[in-house]
Amino acid sequence: MKYPFSGATKELAKWLNFDMASASPMLLDRAKQRAIEGIESGRVAVDTKAKGEKFLIMEILSYPLAKIMVAKTKDKFLIGKYAEAEASAFHSFLMNEPDDVVESLAKEFGFDVEDEAIQFTDYLKYLPRDEDYKLVNSPLSGGKVRVGRDAIAGLLPEKLKAELEKSLRKDMDVPLIFATYAEEIKKEVNRDKAFHTKEDFGTVEVEYFPPCIKALIADAQSGQPMAHQPRFVLASFLVNVGMPVEQIAEIFSSTPNYNAKKTRYYIEYTMGKRGSGTKYSPPSCDKMVFYGLCRGKDALCSRIKHPLSYYSRRKKIGNKRVHT
Ligand code: SF4
Repeated sequence: MKYPFSGATKELAKWLNFDMASASPMLLDRAKQRAIEGIESGRVAVDTKAKGEKFLIMEILSYPLAKIMVAKTKDKFLIGKYAEAEASAFHSFLMNEPDDVVESLAKEFGFDVEDEAIQFTDYLKYLPRDEDYKLVNSPLSGGKVRVGRDAIAGLLPEKLKAELEKSLRKDMDVPLIFATYAEEIKKEVNRDKAFHTKEDFGTVEVEYFPPCIKALIADAQSGQPMAHQPRFVLASFLVNVGMPVEQIAEIFSSTPNYNAKKTRYYIEYTMGKRGSGTKYSPPSCDKMVFYGLCRGKDALCSRIKHPLSYYSRRKKIGNKRVHT
């Protein structure tokens, strides 16, 4: 029930001879609730204490039905948020599983895993954006990298998220009722609530921003014109750490020809509230170097690969000295 995408659960659904065309209104409502709650909170709530065959089956089957409903919204933002929410719930369950369960699920996900070692290419492809998983800490041998069970448990949700997003963007030939539920999801979901759950960095603390971002803030407030690339990097960083739109606009308010309406639109576009619905992330440190925007590197910079990782790490360690 915790892993409705696993082979065992799929087999169970097959054994139940489940036909989505005859899904009960109760089951469809549970699927809709699963989708909305996941999108708004950033994590799908699975009732692991559900008792009785009827409720267990409902929890299991709500997953494929919620997926279809979200896919039918054809809304990239909702699809991305839902995939993240399923992946987040998956990760929290995995962290409490014994090693053999993590390894067996990893194999089901197509990873070549043995003794906490995994194919180097898979590791690179699904590496979560967190400095704790960085490659430099992991010995490489025979094409495999020994990363430990926690890192493997971190790769699985990344793969689930990527596959879910891909499959939910495809057109699905399903009964019409799903389009009705999709419309309800689009109407009922609280997008503002969903925007703020992507990366839970907590309260915004400017003092912990990386040197490059502090330099860009100083540029924005200097009254000098700012090119598109640094403007985008700054806006996307601030959006991702959860700074409110008004506060971000205020930072740009000293740039020449400042226009409050256009700036607000631009920030909301970066958030995915406008345009294609894609929420943008700032570039990695490698790209920042390439753009000439990596400035004022400090000791912590040598341990991270992304400005958001810098911020996340600084929020954890505060002003403690980092040894190189
Ligand atoms: S290393 Fe990364 S975080 Fe540090 S200043 Fe350069 S771009 Fe920013």
